[in-house]
Amino acid sequence: MHRNTAMLSHVGSGPMEFLRRLGSSATTLLGSRGCLLTFHRVAPASAWKSLPNRNFYIDLDFFDRLLTYLGRTGWKVVTIEEALQLANRNDPNDRYVNFSVDDCYRDTYELAVPLFRRHGVPITLFVTTGIPDGIVPMWWAGLEDALLHRDEVIVDGRALRVDTPAAKRKAYARIEKEWDQIGAAASYARFCAQNGIDAEEVHWRHAISWRMLDELRRDPLVEIGAHGATHARISTLPLNAAMSDLRACRERLMQKIRVSADHFAFPYGRSGDCGTRDFELVREAGFSSAATTRKGIILGPRDPFQLPRNTLNGGHRSLAAVELHLNGVASVAARVLGRV
Ligand SMILES: [Zn+2]
Repeated sequence: MHRNTAMLSHVGSGPMEFLRRLGSSATTLLGSRGCLLTFHRVAPASAWKSLPNRNFYIDLDFFDRLLTYLGRTGWKVVTIEEALQLANRNDPNDRYVNFSVDDCYRDTYELAVPLFRRHGVPITLFVTTGIPDGIVPMWWAGLEDALLHRDEVIVDGRALRVDTPAAKRKAYARIEKEWDQIGAAASYARFCAQNGIDAEEVHWRHAISWRMLDELRRDPLVEIGAHGATHARISTLPLNAAMSDLRACRERLMQKIRVSADHFAFPYGRSGDCGTRDFELVREAGFSSAATTRKGIILGPRDPFQLPRNTLNGGHRSLAAVELHLNGVASVAARVLGRV
């Protein structure tokens, strides 16, 4: 059984419903309405439950229901290119949504794109080219992989029992936090050495490959954009390094799969991760738009280099939670709570 099979009509009359209605009535008066949604990975419902970092994944069954729901309720699923055109057209009848997957993993190829294909709607892939190039250490995927498949791991020389899904989730959260503070890539290399893990082998079990991307780029429902060469937080790089990361990503997509990427999505993408300098750099690097992960919806024409985009968290498996994004209510809540 899934926890959230309720359709919206069953959401009830609580505060969530109030906010949803408020958002709905406030925005229908203003013209067109667009919402960009982003996610990272997808997993079959049966596997989702036991994943140590499951909030990073959308349950495939839920995604299926979401796409069905959007089709039934008049939301048009579009590419970023189309979203920008619709924003400029600003026709009050337009309601559109874009789905973008960031980074790009093997499951983008095996599960996400096939799902969108079945629904006959487009999906945008924001590719970090260092993943198919094998130069970005995917420590988050490697750590999760080890916790999922082992009952015990060695962390800083000490054995840690991880023999239940709850213990694995707890361990993931704690170790991720620690590694973030002390340097995740080096910590992961040490972890691999202590646990006898072949990081290269793990990488290719989780990464998307150039061969997969070359196949996907021929699909008319797939739009390919850029998400940096190394997944660096652009705002923290000196000017030249920031520019070369942006350019390298664009050039690599052209060299490897003959894609001229017009659209960019900032890695991390929150306020501290990209600012005025960086919006300008993306334009100079030859892109025609840039998406952040600042919450919000698109009401008519706006600066294409700081597009709001709402992250779908795998833990929120209800259509009502997505409705809050579609109506722009989530962004109001985020501003009130200071989470932008
Ligand atoms: Zn990313």
